[in-house]
Amino acid sequence: MPELPEVETTVRGLVPVLEGRRLVSVEARRADLRYAFPPDLRQRLTGARVTGLDRRAKYGLIGTDRGDTMIFHLGMSGKWRIDPAEIGTHDHLLLETEEGRRLALNDPRRFGSVDLVPSDALAGFPAFAKMGPEPLGDDFSAAYLAEALEGRSAPIKALLLDQRIVAGLGNIYVCEALHMARIAPRRAGGRISRPRLAALVEAIRIVLMAAIGAGGSSLRDYARPDGELGYFSSQWRVYGREGEACHCGAPIRRRTASGRSTFYCATCQR
Ligand code: ZN
Repeated sequence: MPELPEVETTVRGLVPVLEGRRLVSVEARRADLRYAFPPDLRQRLTGARVTGLDRRAKYGLIGTDRGDTMIFHLGMSGKWRIDPAEIGTHDHLLLETEEGRRLALNDPRRFGSVDLVPSDALAGFPAFAKMGPEPLGDDFSAAYLAEALEGRSAPIKALLLDQRIVAGLGNIYVCEALHMARIAPRRAGGRISRPRLAALVEAIRIVLMAAIGAGGSSLRDYARPDGELGYFSSQWRVYGREGEACHCGAPIRRRTASGRSTFYCATCQR
């Protein structure tokens, strides 16, 4: 599923097409994705000029001069198609700019979502209200993490997936960052030293930035907005590599709990 780097890549791909552009057509081709499109989406967005694009956790934000921000989530399989040659079954929302550029929000499994909220009320959007800091932002630091994890006996992996502690991290990048920081996924969050937390913060930034740089993808058929393919699992250190050798020579292991796999090296990670 698209994770933070894919969403960041998507937003960056949309900027040249949308930023500063006026939307002349907004068409929802069905009533819902995971839940209903805002019923007044067309009225509120048609004629609006896009003032800026941004990302919060795994949500893309499209701000307009009408005082509304469209919030999109790509769910399990969503992507934006730019200037598609033809509109397909899974193109559920169509936008057109005054320059004639067309965008289609394509989502075969329909776990994505679209919301429209007043831009000055973004912080109160339910998904954002209790969300922790952005992992690539200045507020996410070893000091912050030490405070957030203090006294916590839950495994560090579960704590990093908790959106209230840090926003937007998913399974793949947590596995990758813990391996880079040499921390065992099952280690109690409250029992990790400050220097190791500093290494973890650094590792999280490195794996996310590398994935963004590579065009980020966790879906084999995921395509960047401009149609180029993202990168594949061969670049991952541990994710999806059960039984292969870690750089230390030990085999990479996989443990599955509640339908989610953890990949790790029992030799490197303590
Ligand atoms: Zn190893």
